[in-house]
Amino acid sequence: MGNHCPDCERDLVWDNGTYRCETCEKSFVKQAFCATCDALLEKLQACGATSYFCNSCNELKSKSSARIYFEEQKTVS
Ligand SMILES: [Zn+2]
Ligand SMILES: [Zn+2]
Repeated sequence: MGNHCPDCERDLVWDNGTYRCETCEKSFVKQAFCATCDALLEKLQACGATSYFCNSCNELKSKSSARIYFEEQKTVS
């Protein structure tokens, strides 16, 4: 499973905390949303594994019950 640009489907490059598409010259942040209630999930790092917490459902979500989106990050230059 790779990280692909939502615009051009090319591979994104991990660059200094954001995912970068060299083709579109855009930066993206990875956001996880709850598959049940659509709320933004809080990312938890535990023992090298990534899990998510939904403040709305008030429960832990596994990676498979999270929906991952790449949100464009506007950079001011
Ligand atoms: Zn792109
Ligand atoms: Zn939820």
